Parts: sequence; structure tokens; C-alpha cells
Amino acid sequence: MSCANYPGLYVHIPFCKTKCPYCDFYSVTDETLISAYLTALDTEARFYRDQFPAFDSLFLGGGTPSWLGEAQIAELMKNLRRHFTFAPECEVTIEANPDDITPDKLALFRDLGVNRLSLGVQSFDEAELRFLQRRHTAAQTERALSLIRAAGFTNLGLDLMYGLPGQSLDAWTNTLETALSFNPEHLSGYQLTVAAETPLGRRVAGGRVRLPDEETQRQFFLLTANFLTAHGYLHYEVANFARQGPQAGSLCYYCCRHNVKYWTRTPYLGLGPAAHSFQAGRRWWNFASVGRYCSSLDAGRPPVAGQESLTPEQIRLETLALGFRTREGVSLGTIREQPGADAILSELEQAGLVRVDHDRVIATSDGLVVADRLPLWFADGDGRLGSGET
Ligand code: SF4
Repeated sequence: MSCANYPGLYVHIPFCKTKCPYCDFYSVTDETLISAYLTALDTEARFYRDQFPAFDSLFLGGGTPSWLGEAQIAELMKNLRRHFTFAPECEVTIEANPDDITPDKLALFRDLGVNRLSLGVQSFDEAELRFLQRRHTAAQTERALSLIRAAGFTNLGLDLMYGLPGQSLDAWTNTLETALSFNPEHLSGYQLTVAAETPLGRRVAGGRVRLPDEETQRQFFLLTANFLTAHGYLHYEVANFARQGPQAGSLCYYCCRHNVKYWTRTPYLGLGPAAHSFQAGRRWWNFASVGRYCSSLDAGRPPVAGQESLTPEQIRLETLALGFRTREGVSLGTIREQPGADAILSELEQAGLVRVDHDRVIATSDGLVVADRLPLWFADGDGRLGSGET
């Protein structure tokens, strides 16, 4: 896993044709706002072109970027290229929904320099797709995948979801097997998490839907990790897997260059409503409202809703939190900044949650299950265990 020293550019395209009941990403279904959004995005890009002159990754995320019309996507890309420089070999990803995929749209993506597609598949099981209220069927996904390959895309990522109510390990294995039959360069396997304020969250709170318990979720996670690594995929981050690239014998994998920047604390600029940015120890984020985003830019102001400058302790904890999620792990030096860290480390090793490889401390598969809690073991000022019990 490596990434160049350029920052990454994320563009949040907060429009979806329909809203999935489990989703808590910021997005709206009112397509009449798209035109004003594109104008505002152009203005916002202008604010940052001196601060972020060049990128080597561009990620068009959402929302559902592929739902935009062809002229709208072309306008957006033209404006970005007018304001910023993109390095040669820049990774350009667009998130797409299977039922938006047409030969014309794929041809446009290629013309615009898109070289990586991230497809929101979620499942190949029709009943699961209906439960998730996705607007595509498994058959549509399979057709989209054939069209994508026929159009010449050679870097394709599939997003899949496990831990659905009533889902069996066999059903999940079937989805993984079907996914692998398309030989994707990248796979993301996300556990269904349900935020309280979503429609599905309210059904769970009301007892009308029951999610799998923690042990079952653990089994889904370990099955995913074991199955995909047995099929040659590199488990390079908790939820992400990449297969080896064309350079035989090299360590080049199809990791998502853009997302690696988040985990390695490389600077990135986020444009669009609700987008986050990070540079020089400072983090800032935009209004999570198309209306406020546009009116702020109309008035000549950056649409920044909040910001923070990280303290050295916050930076250390963030480095631990991000590092434990990846196969690169955390440097022993960072771990040992905490008094008493060696004793904690030895406990975690004995529990089979981490291993030490040269000067890196790396979460094992069992450790990745609780990756979000591992930093808490090193969080207390006196080095004793915090609330990060496993
Ligand atoms: S398509 Fe994606 S962003 Fe849109 S509502 Fe569904 S999960 Fe959320």
C-alpha cells in the first residue's frame, strides 16, 4: 500500500434518485437543485485552487454521482480541470449505481478521464436488495458489470454489505462468490450499521427489525476476510480488499489510492455539501445542506460549517485509530509515546489482537474485528487500559 505525496480531491455529489432506509450519508432526491449545486461547486473550487494546486486522486462520491445527467457530469469535470492540475496517472473514481450504467454513460466516463468505477452492488440476493430498498436488481448488476468490462474499464471496485437481518453465512458466501466471478480489482465489504435517525434505525428501535448480534457480525467479518484472502485479495484495510496488479512479482495492488490518503493522514480537499477537508493538522467541513452550501457561495463565502486544529494528543490517537485499521499498522515509536505502552502491547499480543512485525504493530484478523477499540487501550494518561475492553 503506497500513495504519492499529492493531496486527494473528493467531490461530494449529494443527489440520489431514491433514499435508502439505512443511509445516513448526506443526500437529497430533489434534482432541481443540481444546476445551482454545479454553479456553487465551481465557485468553491476557485477558492481552493491556490491552496491545493495539484492532485493525484479524484473521487466523485455521494450520493449517487452516476445519477447526474451526462451534460452535468461533463460540466463538473470540465470545471474541476479548469481550476486544478491532475497529475499524470491520476486515479479518477466515480461511484455508480448499477441501474445508471449505460454504454453511453460509460463512454462519457472514459472520455472524461474516469479510470476507476466503484459500483454500489450491496448484494446479489434479490430478497436482500428488496429489504435494502435498492433501486437495482441482481440481474441489472450483472448486466452493468458486463457493460463496464466491455467498455474497457480495468479498475473496478464492488461495494457489498453483510450483517443484514436474517442473512445467513451461506447467503453471504453466495454473494461473495458471484462478485468474484467478475474478477473485480477491488472489493469493499461493509457491515450494515444502522443510525438511529434513519427509517431503518426507527424500525430497529421499535423492535420491528432485529440485527445480527455481535458474535454473528464477527463471523461475517472473519468469513469475508478468510474467503477473500484465500482468493488472492490483499486485506489492506478493515473493510477493503484489493487484488494484485498487472506488474508480476511486484507489490502493486489495486488499493484505492484516494481512500489510502485518509488512512495515512495525507492532505485532501473535499468539495460539496457535507464534504470534509484536511491539511496541515487542520480539519474543516462544509454545511450538510445544499441550500446553505449554495447561499454561502452565492454570498462569496466558503461554505465551511466548522473546523478544528488537532492537538498533538489528538494527532497521536488519530494515527493509532487509522493505523490499526490497515495492514501497515502503527509504528512502535508512536505506540511507545504512551507511558506503560509495552505492557499493554504485550497483553494485546497475548490476546491475539495484534502482532509486532519489525517496527510495526499490526492488528490481526481478530484485532481488526475490534479495530475501532484498539486505540482506546492506549488512550488513558497513565497507560492503564481504558474502556477498550474486547
Ligand atoms: S444510493 Fe447510496 S448515498 Fe444514496 S441513499 Fe442509497 S446508500 Fe445513501
